[in-house]
Amino acid sequence: MNWYYVEQGQQAGPVSEEQLGEMLRGGKIQPDTLVWREGLAEWTPCRSALGGTPSDSTTGATGEPTAEAVCAECGKMFPVEETIRYGNARVCAACKPVFLQKLQEGAPVNTGELRYARILTRFSAVVLDGLILMVVNMALGFLLGYISAIAARHNPSAIVSVQFVLLALEVAVAASYETLMVGKYGATLGKMACKIKVVIADGGRVSYLRSCGRYFGKMLSSLTCLIGYIIAIFDNPQKRALHDHLCNTRVIYR
Ligand SMILES: [Zn+2]
Repeated sequence: MNWYYVEQGQQAGPVSEEQLGEMLRGGKIQPDTLVWREGLAEWTPCRSALGGTPSDSTTGATGEPTAEAVCAECGKMFPVEETIRYGNARVCAACKPVFLQKLQEGAPVNTGELRYARILTRFSAVVLDGLILMVVNMALGFLLGYISAIAARHNPSAIVSVQFVLLALEVAVAASYETLMVGKYGATLGKMACKIKVVIADGGRVSYLRSCGRYFGKMLSSLTCLIGYIIAIFDNPQKRALHDHLCNTRVIYR
């Protein structure tokens, strides 16, 4: 494999990987000397580049996993050395042409900074999800109402148990909806429509477990006379509600 390195501001090489290692040990190049080989998206300091071959790009020279970065364009994870940097953003090799094209055209690009969703946007998403769940709950209500009407002919107290079943079902439906949608897509239908999504503090995706915890955190936000929601208005710029504090999540624009 041919390596190139920077010597007195000039590109030098090619040299083999062994030679490069020898030069590093011999002090001819420093650990922070920029080196490059085919397959690397950009010139990389020698210390992080050596040992990271294309077939073994997720482990560094020490066998430790190397840092990974999320591509700002496709959102997939890549070893940092396989991405190029733009501002705070990193873009994978495959997305680089599209990303640069967007930059040229002046189209909005994701520069890696989280754009926290405004309260009104989040509120709209909550209302939309509320409407969706209301339709589902009404259907459930009709179905169970019908069942309880039949059951009540034989046993009038059955209505009470049916009410409990209905309540449990409504919570189960809402919890599954939120957990599965946010865990899989990062957003419920309401959030998708408002072009926002839930992420963890560094912009990464939310796991199913965290998503489920967040749903029950939301219950707590509601139970505190909505104070859990109201605090988001004063949390600048991240706009975290109580459930975002509890689960270390943020709501951002896609
Ligand atoms: Zn990409």
